[in-house]
Amino acid sequence: MRYPQTFLDDLKRQADIVRVVQDYVQLKKKGANWMACCPFHKEKTPSFSVSPAKEIFYCFGCHKGGSVFNFVMEMERVSFPEAIKLVAEKSGVPLPKLIDDSRFEARRNEADAVIELNKWALEWWEQQLESSGEARIARDYLNSREITDETRKTFRMGYAPDSWDALSIHLRQKGATQDQIERSGLVVKKEEGGSYDRFRGRLIFPVMDIQGKPIAFGGRTLRNEDAKYINSPETAAYVKGRNLFGLNLTRDEIRRAGFVILVEGFLDLIVPYQFGVRNVVASLGTALTPDQARLVSRFARKVVVNYDGDNAGVQAAKKAIAILLAEDLEVKILVLPDGSDPDEFIRKSGVSEYQQQRGLAQPHIQFVIDQAVRDRKLSNPADKEAAIDEVLPYIRVVRSRLQKREYFDIAMDSLRIGDTTLRRELWHSIRQGTGEGARAGEETKTTINRAAVKPTVAEIQLLELLLNDETVRRNILPKMEPADYGDLPTASIFRAIVAIENEGTGVDFGRLSSQIDETDSAAELLPMLLMGDATPDNEDQENVRPKAEKCLDALRLMNINGKIRELHAEISEAERAGDETKLVRLSVEYSELNRLRKSFEPQSQIAQAENA
Ligand SMILES: [Zn+2]
Repeated sequence: MRYPQTFLDDLKRQADIVRVVQDYVQLKKKGANWMACCPFHKEKTPSFSVSPAKEIFYCFGCHKGGSVFNFVMEMERVSFPEAIKLVAEKSGVPLPKLIDDSRFEARRNEADAVIELNKWALEWWEQQLESSGEARIARDYLNSREITDETRKTFRMGYAPDSWDALSIHLRQKGATQDQIERSGLVVKKEEGGSYDRFRGRLIFPVMDIQGKPIAFGGRTLRNEDAKYINSPETAAYVKGRNLFGLNLTRDEIRRAGFVILVEGFLDLIVPYQFGVRNVVASLGTALTPDQARLVSRFARKVVVNYDGDNAGVQAAKKAIAILLAEDLEVKILVLPDGSDPDEFIRKSGVSEYQQQRGLAQPHIQFVIDQAVRDRKLSNPADKEAAIDEVLPYIRVVRSRLQKREYFDIAMDSLRIGDTTLRRELWHSIRQGTGEGARAGEETKTTINRAAVKPTVAEIQLLELLLNDETVRRNILPKMEPADYGDLPTASIFRAIVAIENEGTGVDFGRLSSQIDETDSAAELLPMLLMGDATPDNEDQENVRPKAEKCLDALRLMNINGKIRELHAEISEAERAGDETKLVRLSVEYSELNRLRKSFEPQSQIAQAENA
């Protein structure tokens, strides 16, 4: 699927990068730019800047930078098409129809329809909870749980009246068809045809997607029915195990805190939130899924699992550990005293006691070992073997080789396995496994990073001047030959500038990036170069051209020096081979290059900055 180019151009023009970024970080105006503390790395003094004129952001600390789309991709951890959609929504630019993928389109329309009905239902349920006489039972329940009106409104809780068709009637009055109502999952279809309201006489908790749209609901009984909670079925808008409850409200705090507390139920999130613990998400009943773990990893690399302290909770926590480790997350386990869940515990013991307990959360490996040796005697060989079998899978899934070894040693010591041969065998049995593939992938990534472009000072200055100063482009580009930059690591940027200048369009981030191959790591330098201060406002415009010329000279000198080095090698080779004719030709070349080099030397102090 693709968006039409005209739409993308249009969106780029209309999307105000400052406004979009401001949704995520507090920007302060400074000169022509806006500054903030970087959302991508920890810092105390702002080095993150946004240039509305250049339509880019750049962090002088961690060097992340790019367009408004790159920013949203990085912030929301979404793909490019998703980023486009988000930017369009934030900028109020209507999305065009995607032409190629009609099935995707149909599903999206259906999902939108479900969300629309969910919105109608939710607004109505909220009203019921707020003011209907019947909802007193729900309001009493919330009071008994010390949940304030503010919290109720923040989480948009509602009350579904105890009726078979009150909601259906309301939805029909709003204009929904029976077919739409049935597809929304808000009703249960009857075999003989027709349907009845799914949620009756229940306190409603909406599940929002990350943008805060209601995609599903949970309903809690207020009359001690068998089913304490019932939930929406899967619909076009809702796939189970893909979302985390609360994330739309807590994601910024999660990012700030650097870790997330994972809980199970609605109130396990809502109550801590009300008391100020806001880096929390809830997995909601079903076992944590890999999709949910991946979603968590977009916002934090560390997870504190805080499930119920009862046996079911412990089992669920163990499953969650394995899923989280496979996503390369660091996992700790918090088990509250007396089997309390976070909701009870915070109401009973207070938030500072909770935070203190949280500080004592165990590393996952310790928790797993404790569980494995509980009710077992390590002096009994069969018990010991069972304990080993229980622990090893949690070490096998760890991706980092180093951590894996560390956890392994902790486990061996705790399980009192001293025999070196046995240890070696066990290590061998878990060394291979999912970790190896992942590790291989990591290595490739580091290699790419290491090979990243290392341009010289002269190169950077010249590019900054060319990119940010039209006069320099007009005067210097015609003097440049492809040979001047062809061998440089930034050659692709020079070529892009020349191409854009020849087209007669303006040099900007979007055009530059589209000219440079995605796999070319030089592209990563663009935000830095565009933000570069080679041409500060106060600098005498007349100095700019000579400065650019000096840089160009320095590049040419570097080129000559490189060629001379090559010639040296060739001359030694010819001498060894006794190839007289070649030697004569090479020496002529050599003295020509040497003369050329001398002609540069007096003017090019910048050449000394050459870090070859
Ligand atoms: Zn940064």
